[in-house]
Amino acid sequence: RQSLKIGLIPADGIGKEVIPAARRVLEAIGSDIPKPEFVPLLAGWEVFVRSGTALPEETVEALRECDGALFGAVSSPSRRVTGYSSPIVALRKELDLYANVRPVISVAANPEEKPAVDLVVVRENTECLYVKQEQLVPTENGKEARATRLITERASRRIGKMAFEIALGRPRKVWLPSSLPRIIVVEILNLFARKIQQVTIIHKSNVLSVTDGLFRETIRQVPADANGRYDSVKLEEQIVDSAVYRLFREPQIYDVMVAPNLYGDIISDAAAALVGSLGLVPSVNAGDKFIMGEPVHGSAPDIEGKGIANPIAAIRSAALMIRHMGYTNGADRIDRAVDQVVREGQVLTPDLGGKSSTDDVLNAVLKKL
Ligand code: NAD
Ligand code: MN
Repeated sequence: RQSLKIGLIPADGIGKEVIPAARRVLEAIGSDIPKPEFVPLLAGWEVFVRSGTALPEETVEALRECDGALFGAVSSPSRRVTGYSSPIVALRKELDLYANVRPVISVAANPEEKPAVDLVVVRENTECLYVKQEQLVPTENGKEARATRLITERASRRIGKMAFEIALGRPRKVWLPSSLPRIIVVEILNLFARKIQQVTIIHKSNVLSVTDGLFRETIRQVPADANGRYDSVKLEEQIVDSAVYRLFREPQIYDVMVAPNLYGDIISDAAAALVGSLGLVPSVNAGDKFIMGEPVHGSAPDIEGKGIANPIAAIRSAALMIRHMGYTNGADRIDRAVDQVVREGQVLTPDLGGKSSTDDVLNAVLKKL
């Protein structure tokens, strides 16, 4: 590839402050990625107010010509507004971005130490209760609301494969207690002694044996059909409610968690709470042909325009986007630079207890790069 065409959709609020920072970082990493070419695009509440659509047709058309995209955040009104619907939900559908991938990784005080939280939530993005087939039915005892919960073999298989691929791509580092000398032989023996990567299927098939049963069974079949490709990955499963309990008590037991849409939505927000600030957590929406990075946070109207939004979630989303495109070196370099800035703790935005601005943090990251 000669160049990398990346759609930039800052959208609303602090999206307009953090996406330019992510752009600067991608421009700065040089030969680890093909020369990036950026395409600024519109979406969100502001453009809806101006033009009557939250996702202009030109934006979707332009994205189809791009290799990937970065999305900021939208300010969705909490009241119902006629004609408005969330552009991010529409984009996931238009571009068949069937996986929402959210790594939740804390920064250890010492680079040789295991981070307290180091996991990835892989959420199915297209079905489950989010097919929004809801009905209100009058009965003789009052109203009755019903919803369809769709789980298909096809969607479960592709999200399962995505989870195993992500597990394979995670570092195979063996962490030893830092009190022990780092004896290479021990590390190598360890590598052979156990499967280090792990996928945990999250479900409730003890109750929902048909829908969650299909999700679980289909994903259990993924490694069996993969000709040994996933032999290094241990397959676990956990009922969703106890999974959340254990996520809070002992997050270190998880590596990659794969879940149907609704459980995944809840678990990924909950997991983000484990690392301190929403301003740190990145995500990508991924399909087989397109990838869109997106910080987990929203448009943060309370700090909009003050220049103090934490750009790290957006910068890490850019790293995650290029990681999924296969540019691992570039992604590693960005993540290492960000880790250093967070670890040193000298240049932090107010959400992390610091006094620095968005630009200060961006410049600190650029300097580390
Ligand atoms: P929010 O994520 O915007 O903000 C929650 C809190 O975290 C706020 O106090 C905010 O200042 C802080 N925060 C968030 N990101 C930060 C950052 N990068 N740096 C420093 N502080 C940060 O959530 P909200 O306030 O519930 O929602 C605000 C708007 O965003 C709403 O209109 C909502 O619909 C929208 N929203 C959009 C998305 C999205 O685009 N995917 C996600 C969540 C919320
Ligand atoms: Mn959510």
